[in-house]
Amino acid sequence: MKPLTEKRFLDLSEGVFLPENLACLDAISSNFYWSWHREGAELFRDLDPFLWESVEHNPRQLLKKIDRFLLWQKASDPEYVERVRRFFEEQEKYLAEPLRSFGRITPQNPVAYFCAEYGVHKSLPFYSGGLGILAGDHLKSASDMSLPLVAVGLLYRFGYFRQKITHDGWQEERYADVFGLDLPISRVTNEKKERIIVSVRIRQREVFAQAWLVRVGKVRLYLLDTNIPQNNEIDRYITGHLYGGNGETRIVQEKLLGIGGVRLLKALGIEPAVYHLNEGHSAFLTLELARQFLQENSDKTFDDAVQYVRQKCVFTTHTPVAAGNDVFPPELIDACFDKQFIDSLKLDRESFLALGRVNPEDKNEWFGMTPLALKMCAVSNGVSKKHGEVSRRLWVRVFKNEKVEDVPITYITNGVHPLTWIAPQFQALYEQYMGKNWYKLLDEPERWKEAVSSIPDEEIWKTHLLLKNLLIYYIRRKVFSSDTGKFETIHEHSDIKDFFCSEYLTIGFARRVVGYKRWTLILKDFERFLRIIDNPIRPVQIIFAGKAHPQDREAKIMLQNLISQNQNRIWLKRAVFIEDYDQDIARYLVQGTDVWLNVPRRPLEASGTSGQKAAMNGVLNLSILDGWWIEGFNGENGFSIGTLDDPQGLSDEEIDHQESNSLYEILENRVVPLFYETNEHGIPKTWVAKMKNAIQTVTPQFSSYRMLKDYIEKAYTRFTD
Ligand SMILES: *Cc1c(COP(=O)(O)O)cnc(C)c1O
Repeated sequence: MKPLTEKRFLDLSEGVFLPENLACLDAISSNFYWSWHREGAELFRDLDPFLWESVEHNPRQLLKKIDRFLLWQKASDPEYVERVRRFFEEQEKYLAEPLRSFGRITPQNPVAYFCAEYGVHKSLPFYSGGLGILAGDHLKSASDMSLPLVAVGLLYRFGYFRQKITHDGWQEERYADVFGLDLPISRVTNEKKERIIVSVRIRQREVFAQAWLVRVGKVRLYLLDTNIPQNNEIDRYITGHLYGGNGETRIVQEKLLGIGGVRLLKALGIEPAVYHLNEGHSAFLTLELARQFLQENSDKTFDDAVQYVRQKCVFTTHTPVAAGNDVFPPELIDACFDKQFIDSLKLDRESFLALGRVNPEDKNEWFGMTPLALKMCAVSNGVSKKHGEVSRRLWVRVFKNEKVEDVPITYITNGVHPLTWIAPQFQALYEQYMGKNWYKLLDEPERWKEAVSSIPDEEIWKTHLLLKNLLIYYIRRKVFSSDTGKFETIHEHSDIKDFFCSEYLTIGFARRVVGYKRWTLILKDFERFLRIIDNPIRPVQIIFAGKAHPQDREAKIMLQNLISQNQNRIWLKRAVFIEDYDQDIARYLVQGTDVWLNVPRRPLEASGTSGQKAAMNGVLNLSILDGWWIEGFNGENGFSIGTLDDPQGLSDEEIDHQESNSLYEILENRVVPLFYETNEHGIPKTWVAKMKNAIQTVTPQFSSYRMLKDYIEKAYTRFTD
């Protein structure tokens, strides 16, 4: 018999009950709204702080695993019950806010946002890096702004890998079945409660996919999943791993995402006004839109279909690096698009293949997702001013007869979601000085600036030190070798009592491990760097984190090279590598370090966003002038390395030499002395002025609200029809 005072919890895990007066924790944990409101995260943490850490901030696992005595204790605590009730009420109020209309974007005709990865929260492991985090921030901001938007992606059964470093510094990958994680996802069904299934022709057969719904505030995120009995064993693995497998896996995933995604929206009765292709992975969707158009308008030509599709589609390119722009050999295209599909577009094989080429005449050129997207979307953009320029140069040949400056690729600089990335402690400070709706001031940069100047330096510094201490204790826990039975491996420590110090200048360096990010630039003159960090009066410590793509051997070697420096005693004391970089670790780092280091090879950092997160927390950027930093740096809000001019006629080796020298010099002469220049109260006045300047200038300009407004104005509503 069902107990009277308990409520059944989770349709996925039978027989788990919650006390009735805490039953709304079920609804709270079913929508990621809680994850960007500090009171939300605190509700779960306060239930059982240790368990909260061990379930890795996954609320549904927490509710399932928590000791029932503890839970009932909380249910008997009127203050806690009241906090839950109040949060739930606010969530309900927020979710009930009506969606707004923006030109042709209306609640009936929303934006359909397509992306291969989504970084909404650590507990939803469907992202690998910046692209996914950006997509997650996009959804949260759309929700906050009541922009009608639905999102489409894939449900990766094994997610992205978890990183382990072996004794010799080599990266190993581990995958876990995400269905063990009690994710807040629900099957998408029709009115009769039957699963909605879409099919796509792949590998000469029909492959079926069901869909799952993830709620991100007011935004619905649909994830396609081929792991159903209708498919054979191999096809069930199509949505197995994010960026796993080979080129064949990649193209079938992309066909499912683009074509399956459009079919899913149709099956749901959703009629998007605009399709946003966030990176080229989803570009096949344009072909399905063209096919549907021609099916309904049999008298029209493919060119008419292109005109129709272009007016509906927006494309964002995210990288000038070749590996980020998928290309497929003709055999793979043949295997994925049969004659029937090509016929339905009123094309022949040759003209179909030409759609994906920069030069349609060049029969040897592979089929590229970026050329396809550029041709099929009326609006295309890069993700910073510089990246816009670079993309126009890179893709000018797609647009025949156009001069570089006339290439129709504009730019919308990336931003980050303030409520996700600004530390709760700073948010509390802003509330104190600007009121509960402090983030609304970000729409008015001048008022924001003024409001921040009214906060005393001492308060800013105190808040920063709090976060820095938190980070250092977090690191000590992370590197303690308890996992391996006190066996000291290359990056673990058996004695952490004095490891890292909150008074030392602390540099953070965390990002994907990939060639152009130059992980080992800092090792160029190793002796000189050791002298900098081992300075007895002004010591410096540095924290690294990041994953290499599982198939990128060169990146893994670079990582091993860095980690192997641990054989040096000084390095071991002052540098640390944190395994398994993710959104959670990113938050600790961008909130708790003093300096955020970035040394990409120019001009390959399309935008970068981690530096924006850092600056919003008063962490000073020390970065090469590339991507967003060219727009963000004003001389006072951080430090620049090297020059702005593109180096002419130098080899990569020579550039590395120059820029590493510049880095050491700035560290020795500017960054380190400034940090240690403190007044009689121990506060580094000039440094704090820079922190304040960063918070004042970077927060409004690189907030995702500004980014989304730009997308609405410059892309989503920019059509004339
Ligand atoms: C923000 C973020 C990124 C992007 O970082 P960049 O330095 O801009 O490349 C990657 N991974 C995680 C987990 C992040 O939070």
